Amino acid sequence: MSAKKAPIMIQVPQSGLRSISGSDNDDFFYILAHQVLAALWLENSDSDERTQQGKATLAAMKGMKPRDEHEGMLIGQLIAIHNAAMECHRRAMIGEQPFEARRENLNQANKLSRTHRDVSPTSRALRCGARTRSGKPCQSPAVRGKRRCRMHGGAPGSGAPIGNKNALQHGHYTAEAIARRRQLSALIRMARTTLAEIEERR
Ligand SMILES: [Zn+2]
Repeated sequence: MSAKKAPIMIQVPQSGLRSISGSDNDDFFYILAHQVLAALWLENSDSDERTQQGKATLAAMKGMKPRDEHEGMLIGQLIAIHNAAMECHRRAMIGEQPFEARRENLNQANKLSRTHRDVSPTSRALRCGARTRSGKPCQSPAVRGKRRCRMHGGAPGSGAPIGNKNALQHGHYTAEAIARRRQLSALIRMARTTLAEIEERR
Protein backbone atom coordinates (compact mmCIF):
# COMPACT_ATOMS: atom_id res chain seq x y z
CA MET A 1 0.00 0.00 0.00
CA SER A 2 1.51 3.35 -1.02
CA ALA A 3 1.55 6.31 1.35
CA LYS A 4 -0.99 8.03 -0.85
CA LYS A 5 -3.52 5.22 -0.36
CA ALA A 6 -3.20 5.25 3.43
CA PRO A 7 -6.58 4.92 5.15
CA ILE A 8 -8.08 7.87 7.00
CA MET A 9 -7.55 7.47 10.76
CA ILE A 10 -9.91 9.48 12.96
CA GLN A 11 -10.70 8.89 16.62
CA VAL A 12 -14.38 9.26 17.44
CA PRO A 13 -15.49 9.01 21.09
CA GLN A 14 -18.13 6.33 21.76
CA SER A 15 -20.54 9.06 22.84
CA GLY A 16 -20.25 10.75 19.44
CA LEU A 17 -21.36 7.78 17.31
CA ARG A 18 -25.07 8.48 17.59
CA SER A 19 -24.80 12.18 16.83
CA ILE A 20 -22.97 11.34 13.59
CA SER A 21 -24.95 8.30 12.32
CA GLY A 22 -28.34 8.71 14.00
CA SER A 23 -27.98 5.20 15.47
CA ASP A 24 -26.84 3.74 18.80
CA ASN A 25 -25.48 0.73 16.94
CA ASP A 26 -21.67 0.68 16.61
CA ASP A 27 -21.66 -1.46 13.46
CA PHE A 28 -24.12 0.87 11.74
CA PHE A 29 -21.90 3.85 12.54
CA TYR A 30 -18.70 2.20 11.27
CA ILE A 31 -20.28 0.96 8.04
CA LEU A 32 -21.97 4.29 7.28
CA ALA A 33 -18.85 6.31 8.14
CA HIS A 34 -16.73 3.98 6.00
CA GLN A 35 -19.14 4.30 3.06
CA VAL A 36 -19.19 8.09 3.25
CA LEU A 37 -15.40 8.39 3.69
CA ALA A 38 -14.81 5.93 0.83
CA ALA A 39 -16.88 8.18 -1.45
CA LEU A 40 -14.52 11.14 -0.88
CA TRP A 41 -12.24 12.26 -3.71
CA LEU A 42 -8.81 11.65 -2.19
CA GLU A 43 -6.55 11.12 -5.20
CA ASN A 44 -4.94 14.55 -5.02
CA SER A 45 -4.75 14.78 -1.21
CA ASP A 46 -1.75 14.03 0.98
CA SER A 47 -2.11 12.29 4.35
CA ASP A 48 -2.89 15.48 6.32
CA GLU A 49 -5.43 16.64 3.76
CA ARG A 50 -7.10 13.24 3.86
CA THR A 51 -7.47 13.43 7.62
CA GLN A 52 -8.87 16.94 7.29
CA GLN A 53 -11.35 15.79 4.63
CA GLY A 54 -12.38 12.89 6.88
CA LYS A 55 -12.88 15.11 9.92
CA ALA A 56 -14.83 17.66 7.89
CA THR A 57 -17.06 14.87 6.58
CA LEU A 58 -17.90 13.57 10.06
CA ALA A 59 -18.47 17.16 11.23
CA ALA A 60 -20.91 17.68 8.36
CA MET A 61 -22.81 14.49 9.26
CA LYS A 62 -23.01 15.56 12.89
CA GLY A 63 -24.04 19.11 11.93
CA MET A 64 -27.02 17.80 9.95
CA LYS A 65 -28.28 16.13 13.16
CA PRO A 66 -29.54 12.72 11.97
CA ARG A 67 -32.43 11.59 14.19
CA ASP A 68 -32.38 7.93 13.11
CA GLU A 69 -30.71 5.44 10.74
CA HIS A 70 -32.80 6.60 7.79
CA GLU A 71 -31.68 10.21 8.17
CA GLY A 72 -28.11 9.01 8.77
CA MET A 73 -28.14 7.22 5.40
CA LEU A 74 -29.71 10.18 3.57
CA ILE A 75 -27.09 12.50 5.04
CA GLY A 76 -24.34 10.12 3.93
CA GLN A 77 -25.69 10.22 0.37
CA LEU A 78 -26.04 13.97 0.53
CA ILE A 79 -22.34 14.34 1.30
CA ALA A 80 -21.31 11.88 -1.41
CA ILE A 81 -23.49 13.70 -3.96
CA HIS A 82 -22.11 17.08 -2.89
CA ASN A 83 -18.51 15.88 -3.25
CA ALA A 84 -19.17 14.35 -6.65
CA ALA A 85 -20.89 17.54 -7.85
CA MET A 86 -18.01 19.71 -6.68
CA GLU A 87 -15.51 17.42 -8.37
CA CYS A 88 -17.45 17.79 -11.65
CA HIS A 89 -17.42 21.57 -11.24
CA ARG A 90 -13.66 21.48 -10.63
CA ARG A 91 -13.09 19.39 -13.73
CA ALA A 92 -15.23 21.74 -15.79
CA MET A 93 -12.91 24.61 -14.80
CA ILE A 94 -9.71 22.91 -15.98
CA GLY A 95 -8.24 24.92 -18.86
CA GLU A 96 -7.26 23.53 -22.24
CA GLN A 97 -10.05 20.99 -22.53
CA PRO A 98 -12.39 20.51 -25.46
CA PHE A 99 -15.73 22.27 -25.21
CA GLU A 100 -17.51 18.87 -25.15
CA ALA A 101 -15.55 17.75 -22.06
CA ARG A 102 -16.36 20.96 -20.22
CA ARG A 103 -20.03 20.66 -21.16
CA GLU A 104 -20.14 17.03 -20.02
CA ASN A 105 -18.64 17.94 -16.64
CA LEU A 106 -21.16 20.73 -16.15
CA ASN A 107 -24.00 18.41 -17.20
CA GLN A 108 -22.97 15.85 -14.59
CA ALA A 109 -22.61 18.56 -11.95
CA ASN A 110 -26.08 19.81 -12.79
CA LYS A 111 -27.62 16.33 -12.47
CA LEU A 112 -25.87 15.76 -9.16
CA SER A 113 -27.09 19.11 -7.84
CA ARG A 114 -30.66 18.15 -8.71
CA THR A 115 -30.30 14.81 -6.89
CA HIS A 116 -28.80 16.67 -3.95
CA ARG A 117 -31.85 18.90 -3.78
CA ASP A 118 -34.19 15.87 -3.88
CA VAL A 119 -32.41 14.16 -0.97
CA SER A 120 -31.81 17.32 1.08
CA PRO A 121 -33.37 17.94 4.52
CA THR A 122 -35.89 20.50 3.32
CA SER A 123 -37.49 17.97 0.96
CA ARG A 124 -37.41 15.08 3.44
CA ALA A 125 -39.00 17.05 6.31
CA LEU A 126 -42.66 16.34 6.96
CA ARG A 127 -44.85 18.93 5.21
CA CYS A 128 -47.69 20.70 7.01
CA GLY A 129 -50.40 19.85 4.47
CA ALA A 130 -53.04 22.22 5.91
CA ARG A 131 -55.45 23.49 3.24
CA THR A 132 -54.52 27.01 2.20
CA ARG A 133 -56.71 29.69 0.65
CA SER A 134 -55.49 28.69 -2.80
CA GLY A 135 -56.77 25.16 -2.08
CA LYS A 136 -53.30 23.62 -2.26
CA PRO A 137 -51.78 21.87 0.79
CA CYS A 138 -49.36 24.05 2.81
CA GLN A 139 -45.75 23.20 1.93
CA SER A 140 -44.13 24.62 5.08
CA PRO A 141 -42.25 22.08 7.21
CA ALA A 142 -44.18 20.71 10.19
CA VAL A 143 -42.93 21.75 13.64
CA ARG A 144 -40.80 18.98 15.19
CA GLY A 145 -43.04 16.64 17.16
CA LYS A 146 -46.20 18.09 15.59
CA ARG A 147 -47.98 17.51 12.30
CA ARG A 148 -48.61 21.14 11.29
CA CYS A 149 -46.36 24.12 10.58
CA ARG A 150 -46.02 27.02 13.02
CA MET A 151 -48.70 28.99 11.15
CA HIS A 152 -51.27 26.18 11.12
CA GLY A 153 -51.49 25.01 14.72
CA GLY A 154 -47.95 23.76 15.37
CA ALA A 155 -46.79 26.83 17.32
CA PRO A 156 -45.21 26.19 20.75
CA GLY A 157 -47.84 26.08 23.50
CA SER A 158 -50.68 25.49 21.06
CA GLY A 159 -52.82 22.33 21.00
CA ALA A 160 -54.38 20.30 23.78
CA PRO A 161 -52.36 19.96 27.00
CA ILE A 162 -51.40 16.54 28.41
CA GLY A 163 -54.27 15.14 30.51
CA ASN A 164 -56.65 17.26 28.42
CA LYS A 165 -60.10 17.56 30.03
CA ASN A 166 -61.77 19.21 27.03
CA ALA A 167 -62.50 15.91 25.31
CA LEU A 168 -63.41 14.07 28.53
CA GLN A 169 -66.78 12.25 28.33
CA HIS A 170 -67.33 9.83 31.23
CA GLY A 171 -63.69 9.37 32.25
CA HIS A 172 -64.01 5.58 32.54
CA TYR A 173 -60.93 4.94 30.37
CA THR A 174 -58.57 7.72 31.41
CA ALA A 175 -55.16 6.47 32.54
CA GLU A 176 -55.99 7.77 35.99
CA ALA A 177 -59.26 5.82 36.29
CA ILE A 178 -57.67 2.63 34.93
CA ALA A 179 -54.83 2.85 37.48
CA ARG A 180 -57.32 3.43 40.30
CA ARG A 181 -59.33 0.33 39.31
CA ARG A 182 -56.14 -1.76 39.09
CA GLN A 183 -55.12 -0.71 42.59
CA LEU A 184 -58.58 -1.54 43.88
CA SER A 185 -58.57 -5.05 42.38
CA ALA A 186 -55.10 -5.67 43.77
CA LEU A 187 -56.36 -4.65 47.18
CA ILE A 188 -59.37 -6.98 46.89
CA ARG A 189 -57.11 -9.88 45.81
CA MET A 190 -54.85 -9.29 48.80
CA ALA A 191 -57.81 -9.22 51.15
CA ARG A 192 -59.10 -12.53 49.73
CA THR A 193 -55.73 -14.25 50.16
CA THR A 194 -55.48 -13.01 53.71
CA LEU A 195 -59.00 -14.26 54.45
CA ALA A 196 -58.18 -17.66 52.93
CA GLU A 197 -55.05 -17.91 55.09
CA ILE A 198 -57.04 -17.12 58.22
CA GLU A 199 -59.60 -19.80 57.26
CA GLU A 200 -56.80 -22.38 56.85
CA ARG A 201 -55.33 -21.62 60.25
CA ARG A 202 -58.58 -22.32 62.00
ZN1 LIG B 1 -48.92 25.16 7.30
